[in-house]
Amino acid sequence: MRIGHGYDVHVLTEGRALVLGGAEIPYHLGLLGHSDADAALHALMDAMLGAAGLGDIGGHFPDSDDRFKGISSLELLHRTALLVEERGYRLGNADITIIAQAPKLAPYIPQMREKTAGVLGCDVSKINYKATTEEKLGFTGAGQGISAHAVVLLEEL
Ligand code: MG
Repeated sequence: MRIGHGYDVHVLTEGRALVLGGAEIPYHLGLLGHSDADAALHALMDAMLGAAGLGDIGGHFPDSDDRFKGISSLELLHRTALLVEERGYRLGNADITIIAQAPKLAPYIPQMREKTAGVLGCDVSKINYKATTEEKLGFTGAGQGISAHAVVLLEEL
């Protein structure tokens, strides 16, 4: 088995959709980025790539590349899973923590699990999402951005 960790942050801004864990969440702000800026899936992908010894998403899907402009992170996750599979691994399980002062994310967690497991072709029981605030401290607490951590185990195919 191999372990990996991922971390990502995106800025909250007006005029963007809020997409986390592949789920579109109704909110007056969204995350700014080259792709759909899904910080949760970006953390997950970095954890998967890290566990496989394959570097990071910036190396595989650079934000200077127009092919990835506005792309769904579910599509990037699919490509990440293929890279990991080529290395001889599949996901054992993933635990993802999203840090956001607002909005309340709990109602959307089942959808995030389903979307993520759907792309990875695994049972939803292998994908866990948690949401927390930072008690109004720091940039997440001030509502300036949303961050996410992910820890992943990969198993040999
Ligand atoms: Mg990112």
